[in-house]
Amino acid sequence: MTPQELKKMSFATICVHGASGTDPQTGAVSFPIYQSSTFAFKSAKEGADIFAGKKEGYIYTRLGNPTQAAFEREIAFLEEADAALATASGMGAITIAILTMLKAGDKMLAAHTLYGGTHLLFKETLPSLGIKVESINPGDSNELVNHLEKGAKMVYIETPSNPTLQLLDIAEISQISHKYGALVIVDNTFATPYYQRPLQLGADIVIHSATKYIGGHGDTIAGVILGSKEFIDRSRNVINRDIGAAISPFNAWLLLRGLKTLPVRMERHSENAMRIAQYLNFHPKVSRVWYPGLRTHEQHELACRQMDGFGGMITFELKGGKKAGEILMNSVKLLTLAVSLGDVDSLIEQPATMTHSTYSPEELAAVGITEGMVRLSVGLEDVNDIIDDLSQALKKA
Ligand SMILES: *Cc1c(COP(=O)(O)O)cnc(C)c1O
Repeated sequence: MTPQELKKMSFATICVHGASGTDPQTGAVSFPIYQSSTFAFKSAKEGADIFAGKKEGYIYTRLGNPTQAAFEREIAFLEEADAALATASGMGAITIAILTMLKAGDKMLAAHTLYGGTHLLFKETLPSLGIKVESINPGDSNELVNHLEKGAKMVYIETPSNPTLQLLDIAEISQISHKYGALVIVDNTFATPYYQRPLQLGADIVIHSATKYIGGHGDTIAGVILGSKEFIDRSRNVINRDIGAAISPFNAWLLLRGLKTLPVRMERHSENAMRIAQYLNFHPKVSRVWYPGLRTHEQHELACRQMDGFGGMITFELKGGKKAGEILMNSVKLLTLAVSLGDVDSLIEQPATMTHSTYSPEELAAVGITEGMVRLSVGLEDVNDIIDDLSQALKKA
């Protein structure tokens, strides 16, 4: 099938068949892993032309690799982006995307609730390079406009947010930001392109921690940036050339394999999460549940409008607070007490002391991350087994 023919196919078909199809040279159905650091030129002239950008071709795996390119073509199809750059990690993707746009003296706005590592990058490393980051609530359009008027070049958001599962209206934020000439970058890790396509809603750049649902099996660290060809060319040929956060060919292949089952995995993650969220919502020891699929979620209507499904992440709080949460985490037998998310295995953790311990107590309070919050990444085990495990652990908590 040609790429043009494949582009007309539905999401699940593209996931299974890949944007690159079978290998024309060998007929290999699974895309090969080009485990090579360097690539031979046919002549001195060809080498010089590829270096000068006059001719397409591979040079050296830090600058690009065929297995990496196969993953990039496919994820770009799925996010409906012009181009993609795969990176060594999600943090690599975020750093490269920002440095593609900003330099010392520039200012950006960032949503106040973000992945803990992103928060630290914005609080320490970017300011140390002279890039000013202002933490705001972009969901409040007056606040957004007030800050944009003072000259920010970029707005960085995460929706649904980690770990509070708050949603931001991508279309509205993009429309307002564009009036002030600011680009919008969305971390789409929680939703994946199967459930949310920010570029179609008006955003300019999407990033993922591909470590999570895209890889999907808890066996690799990776990231990806998606956007216009011009933006991705600069990310690849200038910023990542210098930073060197290149993905390995093997990890790119693991992502290609992960994508094959992304739709079925996401549907089961969501189905399981919905059942568990409903179970927790009625449990006498649970004081609050955050899951965008619940009608009781403050932004359920926005979730229905902006997303095609609700995903596999649930955050909840026990009436017994932090102590009860700790007993729960120490009492689960099937669930794994670990950070990360989007794996086939269910993972449970406490944001305040683990993933979001990069926030000061004041910052945690300001963004509504309580000490007792427990975050659950719902896996692909039988949902009744997960509920049974939560039930026996909740009895002790
Ligand atoms: C994990 C995560 C990141 C960072 O990705 P790494 O692959 O760990 O570098 C960024 N954003 C979100 C929402 C994440 O969950």
